[in-house]
Amino acid sequence: MADWKDFVEDNRERDGQLLDSLEARHRPQVEPSPPPVLHCPVCLNAFYSDDSLEAHITQVHGPQHVYLRVNGSIIREVAWAERGIQTISVVLLGHPQAKVQIHAGAARKTLTAESEASLQQHVPKGFEGELHIDVEPEGGRRRAFSVYCHSLPEFRQDDIDCRVQTS
Ligand SMILES: [Zn+2]
Repeated sequence: MADWKDFVEDNRERDGQLLDSLEARHRPQVEPSPPPVLHCPVCLNAFYSDDSLEAHITQVHGPQHVYLRVNGSIIREVAWAERGIQTISVVLLGHPQAKVQIHAGAARKTLTAESEASLQQHVPKGFEGELHIDVEPEGGRRRAFSVYCHSLPEFRQDDIDCRVQTS
């Protein structure tokens, strides 16, 4: 035979005690005041702590820990810099270093980058054309970036016509 105290306890929980304690658990513990906003370098979502940003990058972006910042903007793969390149840097998250290859027209340069490295000095001043940057992080996936400076890329009309006709 159950102790009467068990029933009282059950009823008390049904009357709200348990709900109250759940509610308390869901209530935010500390109100962030005023939160410094951090932006995910990959998707630019806003976060309020290093930890949550770190967790987001790991969960959502996985291996996307290499990116290129051109004129202050993060670029994913391809970008057009109509007014040329003012600033360019490679940024590594979660990789100690990476091999970076820069192809600026005929000029080629290979270097080792750590965390955030400016590539400015390796891009000829006033460079026009296609800039290709390959980043091979240590133990990570190779990423390739193209930045078209000043001029738009060559429009490959023949190639497009060919694909339209054969498909
Ligand atoms: Zn993100």
